[in-house]
Amino acid sequence: MSENRSEMGEGLGGRLAHVKGRIEAACARAGREVGEVELVSVSKRKPLAMIREAAAAGARVFGENYAQELKQKADELGGEAGVEWHFIGSIQRNKVKYLVGRAALLHAVDSIRVVDEIQKRASGKGLVQPVLVELSLAGEESKAGVAEEELGDLLAHFANTPAVRCVGLMTMPPWVDDQEEVRPYFRRLRELRDRWRDRGLVNVDLHHLSMGMTQDFEAAVEEGATLVRVGTAIFGARQ
Ligand SMILES: *Cc1c(COP(=O)(O)O)cnc(C)c1O
Repeated sequence: MSENRSEMGEGLGGRLAHVKGRIEAACARAGREVGEVELVSVSKRKPLAMIREAAAAGARVFGENYAQELKQKADELGGEAGVEWHFIGSIQRNKVKYLVGRAALLHAVDSIRVVDEIQKRASGKGLVQPVLVELSLAGEESKAGVAEEELGDLLAHFANTPAVRCVGLMTMPPWVDDQEEVRPYFRRLRELRDRWRDRGLVNVDLHHLSMGMTQDFEAAVEEGATLVRVGTAIFGARQ
C-alpha cells in the first residue's frame, strides 16, 4: 500500500478528483450536464488494493481489458464496494464465458460470432447483456473494430439475439500527441450514433458513446462522450 501511495504522488483520491474536475470543465465548455458522462476508471494491471482505494474515493465503474483479470478481480471484490465492472478490451469468443454475468457492459463487440457467443452465455444465465459496438474509423487493417460499412449488418443482427442488447458505440482513435487530431474520430462516432439511432432496430438502443482516454478525454466529452475510459491519469503509469 505504501508503495502504491508514493507512486501516486498527490494520492489516488486527489487524481480521481482532478480527472472528475476536468470532465466537469469539459461539460461546462460544451454546455452538457455532468451527469451525462460516466467515468470508467481503467484499473487493468493494477492491484485490488488500489481499486478498493479508488472505490472509497468515489469511483464506481472500473474498466478491465483482460477477461481473466476481470473475472478474478470481480470475484475477489464481490459486491463489497458496490462497484460495477466494464470490459473494455477486444473480446475473444472463448473468453466470453468469463465476462457474462460479471461485466455490466462490454465495450468492444466487433463481430457476429462474438455476439452469438454472448447470446448463448447470457441466455444460459437468464440475463440480458448490454454491449457496445466498436468502430474502427481510421481504416487501419490491424485495428480492432468494425468498419463503418459493416455497422448496419452488425446492428441488424441484434434482432436475432434477444439476450444481447446494443446500447451504443465505442472507438479508439489512432495514437497521436495532440488531442485536436482525434476530434474528427469522436465527431464521426457521434454522427454514426445519431444516424443509426432512430431506425427502430430490434434490441438496439444507441445511447452511449464510449470514447476518450487519459490523453484525450476532454476532447471526447466536448464531442459527446457518455463514457470515458481513463486509466493512467487516475492510477499512474502501467508496467
Ligand atoms: C488501457 C485502456 C484505456 C485507458 O488508457 P489510459 O491511457 O491509461 O487512460 C482506455 N481504453 C482502452 C480500450 C484501454 O485498453
